[in-house]
Amino acid sequence: MHNLVWLRNDLRISDNPALHAACKRGSVTCVFLLDHRQWQEHDMSPWRIALILRSIDCVSQQLAKLGITLLIMHCDGFTNAAKLVVDCAQQVQAGCVYFNAEIALNEQRRDNEVEAALNKSGIGCERHQNFTHLAPGSVTKPDGSGYTVFTPFKKRWLAHPLAEPSKPLDPPAPQGPAITAQVAPELLGSVRKDLGAALWPAGETAAQACLKDFVHHRASAYDQQRDLPLQPGTSKLSPHLAVGTVSAGQCLYAAYGANNNVLTMGNAGLDAWISELIWREFYNHILAAHPRLSMGQAFRRETERLEWNHNDEWLARWQAGETGLPLVDAGMRQLNTTGWMHNRLRMVTSQFLAKHLFINWREGERYFMRNLVDGDLAANNGGWQWSASTGTDAVPYFRMFNPIRQAERFDPTGAFVRSQIPELAKSQGKSIFTPWQYAENKAYPKPVIDLAQARDATLAAWKRIRDNA
Ligand SMILES: Cc1cc2nc3c(=O)[nH]c(=O)nc-3n(C[C@H](O)[C@H](O)[C@H](O)COP(=O)(O)OP(=O)(O)OC[C@H]3O[C@@H](n4cnc5c(N)ncnc54)[C@H](O)[C@@H]3O)c2cc1C
Repeated sequence: MHNLVWLRNDLRISDNPALHAACKRGSVTCVFLLDHRQWQEHDMSPWRIALILRSIDCVSQQLAKLGITLLIMHCDGFTNAAKLVVDCAQQVQAGCVYFNAEIALNEQRRDNEVEAALNKSGIGCERHQNFTHLAPGSVTKPDGSGYTVFTPFKKRWLAHPLAEPSKPLDPPAPQGPAITAQVAPELLGSVRKDLGAALWPAGETAAQACLKDFVHHRASAYDQQRDLPLQPGTSKLSPHLAVGTVSAGQCLYAAYGANNNVLTMGNAGLDAWISELIWREFYNHILAAHPRLSMGQAFRRETERLEWNHNDEWLARWQAGETGLPLVDAGMRQLNTTGWMHNRLRMVTSQFLAKHLFINWREGERYFMRNLVDGDLAANNGGWQWSASTGTDAVPYFRMFNPIRQAERFDPTGAFVRSQIPELAKSQGKSIFTPWQYAENKAYPKPVIDLAQARDATLAAWKRIRDNA
């Protein structure tokens, strides 16, 4: 039987269960739907769109070598996906359409519509799962309910019979002689395919090289280096995980092997990295269990009563990296110029917006999505609601990272800040932490707010909703 495989955020040929299953049943054609309208509605960043286009080219070439065609089609919004997939399946005379499930609400609704339309047309539909290593809904408390706190989730996750990663699925065997690969457009809307090409190498081969390099050379020091933005201490695999040029299972399998076949109680660096991959699982499981998070709602409903500040000037200065707080600005400028921000800085910048400026976390969540190369609803929403204290297992409302103390701790020489903020490139010694106190830094803005006053105002706003609980 001939089959159609619908590729989405799984742009790889190895460890791809939908592709693997379809190839086992017969010959295969693949399809990718370029949905620029929907991507814009979902705030997908130009960096990420460009990475997707380049990743499509890579997987298209890999498939072509196996004699498998990847059709690249334009789709105008999720509501048109069902018709396109059915038409495509009929054109290639596929008996069944295979795809790997996505977790966010709109994507699930679209997939349900596609499945219903296929069934109505007498075409089979098989949905697989591997955006996370363990399927959402499979890590539950003994009473069957889901976890909302990370530590017990992680404990249960580690005890799950499928937690230990097995060897990832191989690429499919060739189904015929090599063919000519279809190519993604050079331009989608106003996004050029080569945007960020030097920073973010695309495709499965690049992802595997990045994974191998990290696991063998840097992962064992991850626990000591991961918080220092100047160091290449983290894997930078998040863009690959977001577009699916590597799977969570492949990451876990590589780390597990390097960690003498344990997921915990092994090397401190590898243990810590595996734990971060479990955070990714946690937020995806949370998103699946609480669809209202996909609709912009706060996890903790009482926090909807917080009276956020509305201040366009503060928001614009935060976005531009001109708040006058060097570590915050360095993080925002790293985001604006590369599409990526170090995790420590994501925590510092998000807390500064949601706590000190007390601007609604949704503004920051949206800005991150519109600018991150690794933008991912589950991790981004989880991270923002963690920082804003509105989320599951969030930082307590009274805890606010002080951006000056954070800089002293995690960028003690100021070298990272200097690398991102040219106005401070010549700033000497400790003046890098409080540049407004030194005449030589007058090209750099003064702080947008007084940290102590802002802290008091935020605590008062939280007290008001707690008193009225
Ligand atoms: C406000 C905020 C927003 C964020 N937005 C995103 C986002 O849109 N997309 C995204 O992938 N991550 C997001 N994160 C999580 C984290 O910052 C990034 O995953 C990490 O910086 C990516 O770099 P890396 O691949 O080098 O990570 P590594 O440190 O090498 O970690 C390996 C992988 O583990 C996962 N991971 C690590 N930390 C977290 C975490 N805290 N939550 C969930 N998964 C994690 C990621 O998939 C990451 O690639 C956000 C965090 C915060 C605080």
